Amino acid sequence: MQNGGVSRKDLRSLSPAELAERVKATGAPGYRSEQIFRWLHASGVDNWEDMTNVPPALRQALAAADCEAAASLVLDAEQVAADGTRKMRFRTSDGRSIESVLIPEERPEMLVRGTQAAAPGRREDEDEDEDGDGKKEKGWDKLTLCVSSQVGCALDCGFCATATLGFGRNLTAGEIVQQVYSATARAGRRPTNLVFMGMGEPMHNFEQVTKAFALLTHPWGAAFSPRRITVSTAGLVPKIAELGRLSPPPNLAISLNATTDEVRDRLMPINKKWPIAELLAAARAFPLGHGRKVTFEYVLLAGVNDSDADAERLPRLLRGLPSMVNIIPWNPFSGPQFQRPSAQRIRSFQEILRHRGMQTFIRTPRGDDIDAACGQLAARAPSPDLVTLRSPSVPVTS
Ligand code: SAH
Repeated sequence: MQNGGVSRKDLRSLSPAELAERVKATGAPGYRSEQIFRWLHASGVDNWEDMTNVPPALRQALAAADCEAAASLVLDAEQVAADGTRKMRFRTSDGRSIESVLIPEERPEMLVRGTQAAAPGRREDEDEDEDGDGKKEKGWDKLTLCVSSQVGCALDCGFCATATLGFGRNLTAGEIVQQVYSATARAGRRPTNLVFMGMGEPMHNFEQVTKAFALLTHPWGAAFSPRRITVSTAGLVPKIAELGRLSPPPNLAISLNATTDEVRDRLMPINKKWPIAELLAAARAFPLGHGRKVTFEYVLLAGVNDSDADAERLPRLLRGLPSMVNIIPWNPFSGPQFQRPSAQRIRSFQEILRHRGMQTFIRTPRGDDIDAACGQLAARAPSPDLVTLRSPSVPVTS
């Protein structure tokens, strides 16, 4: 799939080696590209003038060669939900709209670990040392950014708002990383975790998504730990294997959403190509670091996939696979005839999983009052609540 209409000179789309080529083409020494890379990916700078240690002649030569230092996305609307979730709508240089969602996770004083009193959006494993740096993550520090990988989506999952947009185009690596840098500027701090769970199917845009992953984890750039980045897929089996060959790979999440092929075929047409058995075989083959798990998303739809029999089948399907299940009660949007199950049904479903020893978490809707929750992203913010043409520079490094 092509990336129609986007300037090929967006410097944030270039790997360090590609950037070095551009720099060398001006006759400047290669090490200058490291300085520029750091400005673009670590310092949050979006103009040539602020790159103070780069000689003016080199800046001018690159600008004259149409190398773009400006951000490839413009924040054109932002909404903040009652729970602090912040949805940002960005406009691309060819006039498309995409959305990213920042989800702060706070932990109230009286939180009891592993009970229903858990804070909204909190994962049971959040106190774990996710990036293996020896420091435990504190729940109240967690800031997750949900990034988009495509304009719209080509998959036709019946329960998802993004599907109603159809497919627009793939985002470039530069547009993907720019969501992170712009969100950092808006939040005034760097996200602790990145999830490819916004608009689009990341595995349909494999090349640019994995390039963005390399840029975001590069030591000269934002230097995210790969363990802090999760790529979610509806189930493109061959790409799961390819993702697993990255060293190290990101975390893997799979939107399972059903326990039989019959139901999954109906909900997610991609299942007809790669049915559950093949999908789970790919998940089993995915290389997991010490103590890591595959996350399974399970959107709970009343009367469709929420029966006791479903809850009993799920642990059998996942037996022997280090996994955790995120139960996502369906978030409504105008259109389909689905319903969110009752609170009682959701709890019963989770209890059955728990009794069978599964790690599960109910993802309480975050930001659903502004259509920022899972499956509600359709870039339709009514009118901009806030218009910002240029954000302040905030360093992206921790
Ligand atoms: N295409 C990828 C990335 C999108 S992630 C994937 O499918 O994994 C978006 C997540 O939200 C998926 O787990 C999806 O199953 C879930 N989702 C979609 N629509 C939803 C809705 N209306 N309510 C709750 N969750 C939904």
